[in-house]
Amino acid sequence: MPNYDYDIGVIGGGAGGLTVASGAAQLGAKTLLVEKEKELGGDCLHFGCVPSKTLLKSAHVYHLMKNSQKFGLPSVDVPPVEFSEVSKRIKSVIDIIQHHDSKERFCKLGAKVEFGQPTFTDEHSIRLNGSNFSAKTWVIATGSSPIAPPIKGLDQTPYITNREVFYLDHLPKSLIILGGGPIGSEMSQAFCRLGTRVAVVDMAPQILVKEDPDLADAVKEVLSSEGVEFYLDSSIEEVKDLGSGKEVKIKTKQGGIIGLKAETILVALGRGANTDDLGLEAIGIKFDRQGINVDNRLRTNLKHIYAAGDINGGYQFTHAAGYEGGIVVSNAIFRLPRKVNYTFLPWCTYTDPPLGSIGMNEKSARAAGIDYKVWTEEFKDNDRSLAEGETVGKIKMILDEKEKPIGVQILGPHAGDLLSEWVAVLNGKVKLSTLAAAIHPYPTIGEINKKVAGSYFSPKIFSEKVQKGLKFFFNLKGRACAEETCIE
Ligand SMILES: Cc1cc2nc3c(=O)[nH]c(=O)nc-3n(C[C@H](O)[C@H](O)[C@H](O)COP(=O)(O)OP(=O)(O)OC[C@H]3O[C@@H](n4cnc5c(N)ncnc54)[C@H](O)[C@@H]3O)c2cc1C
Repeated sequence: MPNYDYDIGVIGGGAGGLTVASGAAQLGAKTLLVEKEKELGGDCLHFGCVPSKTLLKSAHVYHLMKNSQKFGLPSVDVPPVEFSEVSKRIKSVIDIIQHHDSKERFCKLGAKVEFGQPTFTDEHSIRLNGSNFSAKTWVIATGSSPIAPPIKGLDQTPYITNREVFYLDHLPKSLIILGGGPIGSEMSQAFCRLGTRVAVVDMAPQILVKEDPDLADAVKEVLSSEGVEFYLDSSIEEVKDLGSGKEVKIKTKQGGIIGLKAETILVALGRGANTDDLGLEAIGIKFDRQGINVDNRLRTNLKHIYAAGDINGGYQFTHAAGYEGGIVVSNAIFRLPRKVNYTFLPWCTYTDPPLGSIGMNEKSARAAGIDYKVWTEEFKDNDRSLAEGETVGKIKMILDEKEKPIGVQILGPHAGDLLSEWVAVLNGKVKLSTLAAAIHPYPTIGEINKKVAGSYFSPKIFSEKVQKGLKFFFNLKGRACAEETCIE
């Protein structure tokens, strides 16, 4: 048996890699964690979820300040935003979380942390900072980076991505966002609310292309009403540096060319797996443009090397990377052949209102040939939503042919948090009748979950047939007032 330096080596200290390293070390595996940046935490902590949600909160508060009259409060003249102050707050939140993702914490858990850029020298070894490290099992969790498609002029024009956008020294007067996905949509609202003139360009006819059009269009409507300009169904023809600003030339569906000008361009056109410089070709690991190829146990074609998180080209979420890290620990440390199952993987785009989804939506149910039915409830009919002034949106519950729930989409206040109840219902195979009968606190936005489940039973319970049965058995007397006398 070869004697390796480590039981397990993990490359990449983001959500996926940290989950594996912490689990493996705490289970007694001699663990090496290698990270190329100076700090652990990955994109989520430094350039993704944490800074974006912190920025969105600042933008939300500023938006409320400007709209105080809507809450019966005096109107206030708010001074312009100092983006460096917003950025300071972002950094302070990151600093707090950084303690949790620190070298010292992982050392305490029992893992050895090394910083630097490793290269595989053979199937079990890497070269790092002039030294060799071997491990029985390896996990590649190097994440993804923003891609810059081959658009004419883009390589000669300064632009920003998610790596720079949270750390600007001033608020841009105007911003063109290339891409109307989750990152583009969230950033469009954040910057528009802070006072930047924002335009979003996307070649798709809707923003948030994975979502059902009715909900994605409702998000777009909110963003438009706040001032975001949308150029959908439009291809980006050319990008130019004008010196004083930048220009993006787009071609509309009708063939017209429009020149958009702005101070800054944010590229949010998708993500590419971080496969460069790892020496994957040399040891024969198979990968393509999407990422490293893995089987349903997240093993690469070399069975002792796993790939977890954005790097494997699957779902690009922190919780997906964490889940996959757990699958790797089960397989690599416990030696249990656990497979991934994404049936009820939830996600959320944190615009205001946010749009969350779990399981199938209408688009995916239709694509799967399911004869589905949709049950909806609107937030404008929820007492707490009215009190909060958050009445835009609805919940959609998708039932299959057997009337079993296969998915839920929520556009409305706290959509991501509201999904948690559905996480338990769908994964735990909880009956809809149980959810509909369970007591929920009043007044809460979460009552909408109970209500949409109840709406499935209402027509069955309050039917003519049931009325007739009750009348027959218990001699109920029926209506107390004639319908035609009920005037609203
Ligand atoms: C703006 C933005 C907002 C987002 N918001 C959300 C959200 O709200 N919710 C959500 O779930 N997800 C969100 N995401 C996605 C989320 O950040 C990623 O899915 C998640 O970080 C993936 O985790 P990971 O471990 O695969 O990769 P990462 O977290 O990126 O970690 C990879 C690590 O590997 C390191 N690395 C890279 N190459 C090498 C190398 N050669 N050698 C050593 N180390 C290397 C990197 O420096 C990094 O630390 C957002 C992303 C962005 C960009």
